[in-house]
Amino acid sequence: MISIFQMHPLEPFEISPEVAALPKADLHLHAEAGPRLHRFLATRRGMPAFDWEQWVRDTMSNIPPGIARLHGMATNLITPEEDAEPANFLARVTDILEDSARSGAIYAEVRFGRETIMRSDFMSLFRKAEASVTKTFPGFMAEALATLIPQKDPEQTDRLIGACDRAAKEGLAGVDVIPEPYVTEADWTQTAKWTERLVDAGLALTIHAGEFSTANLAAALQVPGVRRIGHGIKAATDEALLDQVAQARVALECCLTSNVILGAVESYETHPLPELVAASLPITINTDNPVHFATDISQEYERAKRLGLTMQELAGATRTAIDHAFTSEHRRRRLLDRLNAAKRN
Ligand SMILES: [Zn+2]
Repeated sequence: MISIFQMHPLEPFEISPEVAALPKADLHLHAEAGPRLHRFLATRRGMPAFDWEQWVRDTMSNIPPGIARLHGMATNLITPEEDAEPANFLARVTDILEDSARSGAIYAEVRFGRETIMRSDFMSLFRKAEASVTKTFPGFMAEALATLIPQKDPEQTDRLIGACDRAAKEGLAGVDVIPEPYVTEADWTQTAKWTERLVDAGLALTIHAGEFSTANLAAALQVPGVRRIGHGIKAATDEALLDQVAQARVALECCLTSNVILGAVESYETHPLPELVAASLPITINTDNPVHFATDISQEYERAKRLGLTMQELAGATRTAIDHAFTSEHRRRRLLDRLNAAKRN
């Protein structure tokens, strides 16, 4: 067995049978439009695939850890016209859900960007993709979230919120807010006005904060309707913030490999996940951007196990994910039944 001190994002390792058998959930999963569609089109056109492992090596050796690596993520691999094609969009969404189910997720929430939120066929194609994956992986369920980054032009933000409102009526489950600026404190006075509108539209909220710094974490925890924090790991550096996370009863969406590759932490073995678990905070285990980071949900659970989490704690992560999932009560019960059935076997 590889010791945790040799863990590297590209180091191959075995998934233990008990992790493979455990029902998993991935709540923090970006759609990666460019990488997914590029992969699909390259296969169809007989062109070489993008080498994501090389991208990881280049990123980790050439770009300083932190926000600069986040900004270096691929955005221009495809054209807007290619993605506008419904068949292409359907293919890339099916690809996300299929990958997730194949690596043992019983539930996934996918976050989509601005162009996707604005398209009128977004939710119907999402449900079509989910239904096709369910044929191969019965019982698998997925929900869609919109990622919202406040725009400089308030009218643009307004249009996005309008699109979220419309999509909510067709089943959009929630919104992922990324404050801008991200590693320093944002102005939250404006944000509060539109998060209120989103919550009124019946949308659940998760907020990206506490990934590279503690900035925005305290403010995010105070936003009415917030149910989860994307990352939030920097709370571990501040006793008062840990208390605030506990009191807010939000779940933290932890993404081990993402944190190592982007340099939010120095290494797997210095990741605060075990501390957060020891502090009894509700944590979940997620992939973030699995194509970029050459990972999947079973690898992330296995890495958490190698950091010392017990099988009971890993099952607890899935349980927390189901408890904090942005889905209907009916679906939540079915997911819990699946988790409980797996425990009995
Ligand atoms: Zn993220």
